[in-house]
Amino acid sequence: MLHWILRKIVGSKNQRELKKLWPVVQQINKLEQELQSKPESVLREKTAQWKAELAKLEDYREVQAYLNRILPEAFAVVKNGARRLSGRPLTVCDQPITWEMVHFDVQLIGGMALHYGKIAEMATGEGKTLVATLPLYLNGLTGRGVHIITVNDYLARRDAEWMGFLLQYLGLTVGCIQHDQSPPVRRHQYACDVTYGTNAEFGFDYLRDNGLAQSVDEQVQRGHWYAIVDEVDSVLIDEARTPLIISGPVKHDSQQYDRYKPMVERLVRQQGLLLNQIAGEAKALGDAGKHDATGDLLTKLKLGQPRHRALLRMMEEPEYRRALEKAELNFYVDPQKKALFALKEELYYSIDEKSHEADLMEKGRKFLSPDDPDAFVLPDLATAFADIDQNKGLSPEERLAAKEAVQAKMDVQAQRMHNISQLLRAYCLYERDVHYMVGAVHKEGEPAGEPKVIILDEHTGRPMPGRRWSDGLHQAVEAKEGVKIDKETQTLATITIQNYFRLYHKLGGMTGTAETEASEFHDIYKLDLLIIPTNRVVTRKDNNDKIYKTRREKYNAVITLIKERHEKGQPILVGTASVEASETLSRMMKLQKIPHQVLNAKNHRYEAEIVAGAGQRGAVTVSTNMAGRGTDIKLGAGVAELGGLFVIATERHEARRIDRQLRGRCARQGDPGESIFYISFEDALMMNFGAAERMTKLMERMGLEDGQELEHPWLNKSVESAQKRVEQRNYTYRKRTLEFDDVLNKQRTVIYSLRNEALTTEEPHAMVVEVIDEAIPAKVLGFLEVEDGTPDYDGLLQWINVTFPLRLSREEAALETRDAKGNAEWLTAKVKDVYGMKIASEHEEGIKELERYVMLTAIDRLWQEHLYNMDSLRDGVHLRSFAQKDPLVEYKAEAYDLFEVLMGNIRNEVLHNLFRSTTNLRGFEELLASLPRQFSGGGSEDDVDQPVAPPVAAPPPATRVGPIQMGGSGTITFSGGMPLRPKKTPEQGQGEARQGG
Ligand code: ADP
Repeated sequence: MLHWILRKIVGSKNQRELKKLWPVVQQINKLEQELQSKPESVLREKTAQWKAELAKLEDYREVQAYLNRILPEAFAVVKNGARRLSGRPLTVCDQPITWEMVHFDVQLIGGMALHYGKIAEMATGEGKTLVATLPLYLNGLTGRGVHIITVNDYLARRDAEWMGFLLQYLGLTVGCIQHDQSPPVRRHQYACDVTYGTNAEFGFDYLRDNGLAQSVDEQVQRGHWYAIVDEVDSVLIDEARTPLIISGPVKHDSQQYDRYKPMVERLVRQQGLLLNQIAGEAKALGDAGKHDATGDLLTKLKLGQPRHRALLRMMEEPEYRRALEKAELNFYVDPQKKALFALKEELYYSIDEKSHEADLMEKGRKFLSPDDPDAFVLPDLATAFADIDQNKGLSPEERLAAKEAVQAKMDVQAQRMHNISQLLRAYCLYERDVHYMVGAVHKEGEPAGEPKVIILDEHTGRPMPGRRWSDGLHQAVEAKEGVKIDKETQTLATITIQNYFRLYHKLGGMTGTAETEASEFHDIYKLDLLIIPTNRVVTRKDNNDKIYKTRREKYNAVITLIKERHEKGQPILVGTASVEASETLSRMMKLQKIPHQVLNAKNHRYEAEIVAGAGQRGAVTVSTNMAGRGTDIKLGAGVAELGGLFVIATERHEARRIDRQLRGRCARQGDPGESIFYISFEDALMMNFGAAERMTKLMERMGLEDGQELEHPWLNKSVESAQKRVEQRNYTYRKRTLEFDDVLNKQRTVIYSLRNEALTTEEPHAMVVEVIDEAIPAKVLGFLEVEDGTPDYDGLLQWINVTFPLRLSREEAALETRDAKGNAEWLTAKVKDVYGMKIASEHEEGIKELERYVMLTAIDRLWQEHLYNMDSLRDGVHLRSFAQKDPLVEYKAEAYDLFEVLMGNIRNEVLHNLFRSTTNLRGFEELLASLPRQFSGGGSEDDVDQPVAPPVAAPPPATRVGPIQMGGSGTITFSGGMPLRPKKTPEQGQGEARQGG
């Protein structure tokens, strides 16, 4: 009821919004009519005039106000341009076509929604590609660069060429980012008024520009003004779960998957034997008619391997299913889950299908390590530490050593357990050709490389080379498949899609389906939704869902239906939830001699062509849910009379949005069309979210025979409510991820702006001086204003002599004669003095780059280390949630502290490196020798052997990176081969002074 009222309100709000826009449509059309009688040149003149005026405006709000003012006329110019181009030939992706589009009224409305920073929901086939030209032109006039985000590289190129025809005709420049472009080419594309590309390309360019570029010349983007995201739900919701990461190899690799693989294999086999035995017992009971008694056995079987074949077969029979459900209910009802735990203890390990976790049980630990089952238990650190503290016989040093030993043991065990648990997941939860495939990545024109584990996109079944599961899972699967195990990697730069798109001043989006996720778009991106009416009335016939007991019965029914419609010649699009399901159906159709095309992992290159042919007479196309998105299916001749395209979906997706998307593939632009969903109780959605339970009862009450189906609007509702629950859960996950990422995002913003300043400033020297001014007093205070009251003069002196070539004796320094503030001032002056002399000895051309470089290396090295720490922190706080603390609160607090330390460390490292790199090695040595005794005499040799090869030229660029993986190493060396970093890098935290001299 509440929902209904809400919908009424939302619905009418949409109506009100639309009502405001219709008069503008009239105005645009009137202006466009006037333009029809003017000469062609008028359009480009308008463009030039607006561009010139907009170039004079600075303020974002002024610019927007100006754009709002000229909107009707600008849209009229675009529409008129489209009209004048009608009938003209052009080439798009090497195909000759003819321009034959003039904007419809509803498209003008869509264009306004995009300009005002909303999501325009427009059904498939409504021409969103063309809609975008309106706001692209209008906002492109600012010359600040408008980005339009497409789903893949192919569409970026297609749209840039197709729509670019119109935009260029009007006098704008249009660019397009493609995966294989070099930085100079990219920069050129970004310099255009309008740039097409995928979210990954835009996002990675941002990360490279701000996190990796070593000079301004390597940066390609020029700000984030306005972006339009096509298929906005796919980009901002589906892809938002995987952040963009640029990584490099880690220094120390902790993975030992090879070593543990044989152990885990034996363990899996052992559990397999046990499970087969359990399955046998259950079957025997069932055969004797005692189904009720099988509940515990089935629960155990499911805990041991949720995808156990015998279990799945038994689940086809309602008696077993009911017994399992009843038993599970009992186990889970107990808040302490004692009985459940006891049941798990009878297994070697247990698997949770929902949370994707694998747990090694006592029995498994004994099996793996009969002599020392504790090898797989984490020691209780707190108790161990307390014991050590209480041991009065130990000296403080011994105590420390004892604690370190416990800690080290803990690290080893934790690592081992982590390796084993990842391997178990790899063996029990990740199936080849469902979750991943093994194959060689084949780039055009290159020989095939060695076989790799390639993740398959869960929605489309598309292989995603280059993407890797994190946290060792990928290596575990590689070990399982016996392919080369890639090195663990370390994050060099990362951002979530959400936070990338939040960089833009203004954002607009388009999609066929956003309504079900409207609140998420609003809360996270401040994007409101406008549902645009279709150009023609939709005449699609949506049938009720058909529900079957088993997957087998469902598929049989689907094949019967396909056969029937195919014989009439009606084109059919069969949607599946996975590559596996596509293959099963394809096999079944082959048996029935039904000719068909399958769109899956193996032929995705021809995706667009296959989908485009799906509307021809007699075509049967099998495709995973989201494959081929963004390609419009046009009906062939005579197909309309046969009822148009028939969409048969073989499963309901977790998200209603994806289902609507599939339905929307037919009946475009007023075409006839029909859709239906087939469901079984074995589908993941039904199994995991309890919808099956209620319905099984219902089906039994109705005395359903094998092969019979259920169908009722009430059932559709029931399925929908299961979907809503999943949607809600997934939203919560994404929101949580974002809340965590927000913390890092703020830090990234600070670091990136600091880094950019170092990269672009004409006066790096000023930055260095600023560091000296800030870091020295902080350091001095750290030594002299200590809590217990004794200033550490010796420590300070030591630090001074290690960090700067001052070579001060205790008398010369006379630190005790000044207070802390006095010492800070005195030392700052002294350092500036000697630094001034150093600069005077440098090659003049090189000094700027040298100072820039000192800043950059400090920022990069420590920021990357910080990312690593933040990762660990994040893992760590989740463990603390057991202690009734909110992990997010803990994370925020500690992240703040870590960041403070980071900023301090960056300044200290800059100080430390100021005198350790030079553009003029000989000059520098001479300088040191010529300095008065206090500068050159005695002291540690630490400094003198440190001066390092000069970055006279700009340092070489970091290796270019692929979307996720990055080759090359993080250390930059110069031609001489000498690392620029000092041999002794300060450890994180303070204390570097104590290590020196
Ligand atoms: P969507 O992305 O909304 O599904 P597309 O942008 O792929 O739709 O366009 C669907 C089809 O409609 C394309 O073939 C396009 O040429 C055609 N089309 C779009 N707008 C118009 C128009 N105003 N007049 C004629 N054809 C149009």
